Amino acid sequence: MISFVGAGPGDVDLITVKGRRLLERADVVIYAGSLVSREHLTFCKKGCKFYDSASMTLEEVIEVMEREYRQGKSIVRLHTGDPSIYGAIKEQMDLLEERGIEYEVVPGVSSFTASCAAIKGEFTLPGISQTIIITRLEGRTPVPNTESLELLAAHKASMAIFLSVGNMERAVKKLKQGYGRSDVPVAVVYKATWEDQKVIMGTLDDIAQKVKDQGIRNFAMILVGDFINGKYERSRLYAPGFSHGFRRATQ
Ligand code: SAH
Repeated sequence: MISFVGAGPGDVDLITVKGRRLLERADVVIYAGSLVSREHLTFCKKGCKFYDSASMTLEEVIEVMEREYRQGKSIVRLHTGDPSIYGAIKEQMDLLEERGIEYEVVPGVSSFTASCAAIKGEFTLPGISQTIIITRLEGRTPVPNTESLELLAAHKASMAIFLSVGNMERAVKKLKQGYGRSDVPVAVVYKATWEDQKVIMGTLDDIAQKVKDQGIRNFAMILVGDFINGKYERSRLYAPGFSHGFRRATQ
């Protein structure tokens, strides 16, 4: 069996129990060495084979998977965060399907939620936003025109922007255009949950300079929106005057 497993954002204890158990039993682990902590591999049994996918092509990854699978080995494909977000898993799964190879996907803690935890935030605040936009700037991978950052920012929802801190000035320009103001709060979280995590707080006005001053070029999440420090309304769910299926109103 092949398991695509979300390793979580960094801290090795943020993998799921299921993911850790699969790692402990694995005969082969193919991990994304650029972003997955190598400490995860210390939980594997003796003799487990490791492959760092950072230096492999898609075809080479599939070749290893197929060879080991045909020998009845258990294989873990370890992806950073949650595999369903910028994980490039679909192309692997499709090639496995073509070859009649069985696989499963085990979700993980994405870096966007880990980054929100780092600032002790909540994306969905009543009266501010009930929507999270997960996106990125185009890099070598294009982004459809209908999803340009300025169009998405115009919704004024809470935003988590991946893979874009290297182009902070371009991102900020588009965000200002979309939000129509420049005092929107921004938090840049570098290596959320790693020992060298850094959090930089600012607004669209000053965040690009602050990020530059800290020398951050990659491996960071850009969180944008008034959820970071705007004035919100109390949640109805815990309000004394509000009844719901599990609690009667007391006022
Ligand atoms: N599947 C992953 C994302 C992979 S794309 C997930 O769910 O988190 C890689 C990008 O994710 C990085 O460029 C960065 O923008 C973000 N990222 C991954 N780990 C991070 C971390 N620990 N802290 C902040 N951003 C992170």
